[in-house]
Amino acid sequence: MSINIAFDREHIWHPYTSMLKPLPVYPVVAAQGCELILENGQHLIDGTASWWSAVHGYNHPLLNEAVTSQLSKMAHVMFGGITHPPAVELCQRLLKMVPGNLTKVFLADSGSIAVEVAIKMALQYWLASEQPSKTKLISLRKGYHGDTFAAMAVCDPVDGMHDMFAGLLAQHYFLPAPESRFDGDFIANDISALEQLLAECHTNIAALIVEPIVQGYGGMRFYHPEYLRQARKLCDRYHILLIADEIATGFGRSGKLFACEHAGIQPDIMCVGKALSGGYISLAATLCTNEVARGISLSAAGGLMHGPTFMANPLACAVANASLQLIEYGDWQWQVPAIEAQLKRELAACRNSPKVKDVRVLGAIGVLEMHDKVDVAVLQQQFVELGVWIRPFNHLIYVMPPFIITEAELSKLTHAMRVITGV
Ligand SMILES: *Cc1c(COP(=O)(O)O)cnc(C)c1O
Repeated sequence: MSINIAFDREHIWHPYTSMLKPLPVYPVVAAQGCELILENGQHLIDGTASWWSAVHGYNHPLLNEAVTSQLSKMAHVMFGGITHPPAVELCQRLLKMVPGNLTKVFLADSGSIAVEVAIKMALQYWLASEQPSKTKLISLRKGYHGDTFAAMAVCDPVDGMHDMFAGLLAQHYFLPAPESRFDGDFIANDISALEQLLAECHTNIAALIVEPIVQGYGGMRFYHPEYLRQARKLCDRYHILLIADEIATGFGRSGKLFACEHAGIQPDIMCVGKALSGGYISLAATLCTNEVARGISLSAAGGLMHGPTFMANPLACAVANASLQLIEYGDWQWQVPAIEAQLKRELAACRNSPKVKDVRVLGAIGVLEMHDKVDVAVLQQQFVELGVWIRPFNHLIYVMPPFIITEAELSKLTHAMRVITGV
């Protein structure tokens, strides 16, 4: 039976596109390893890991087995008043991996919800303290933290995907994105805006939220670890919670297990998602310290006021356990540096293209920043003709492939990127 594209076009929303003039969609009927298989039989090398999530590749035997064996026991039970083995095992694994100060886990159903929960934790913590005026967040320009309303309110207010809602969102403080590049010198001035804002306004500020080292959808930028180190110190000095949104970076993507490790810092609250469940079933988590949990339990409500219907879904937890088991085996520790080296080698020539403003690579992420905005529909079709799945947006053409990608498959991605830039 063929996929009814006309029905899809008429009735189904796709991400970030119009219902009346939607961008084209490509029918995928199967996926295997690093390949997406189209209805017409064409195989595409996947450069996206389905938005950072499918780090172990598609149709993985261990992940498949985790889902099917859990399915034969139970697909789902509520988490209120009940617990179950996949959830307990997952939280044990997570706590062994994350910075040692984080001890409590909230299992959320998506990344945006994990961010909502992180924000709720920070606000509820201060509500219960002697300082209920601490209700504002600080975020960075070029930041991206999700699509729900509290998360949108900390995304870049101008360049973000949500500027049209600006008047309807909670108003927070925004600081310039750090200019110091990951691999360059640290520009001391980068931190002064944070220093100044905290000196003046810390009594209204609950938390600083950042994507550590890698700013993802707000611009695919890699900034200097010293920024995080100094931000951590300033948060301590002014009694501000630090929220690390590791949803894109967590589990090896930037070359460290968590991007915070580049700076050797520990956040007070951390969000993980995307690769957590290996790209199989939506799952995320928000972790916090004993101190944050203690503060929240002193609030009038006593508990954390959040509890989604599908919290800690057993199928999602089971596949996340398998995904983290693969991360624990540690193949990513040689795969990611190998991808990084190859991306650096094979994308370097793109610097010679007059269309390209910047080329940058960190871990298993390769980015071409173009001078002009790309035409997504045209470029997408060219990429498909070249046998690859790469999804550009704004000024950016980038890849973050599954960690299991082979050298030959990765060369196909970089070749396509070079062809597109004309070098
Ligand atoms: C993708 C992403 C989110 C949102 O996660 P969803 O699962 O799409 O809701 C939040 N923060 C960052 C840094 C992300 O990359």
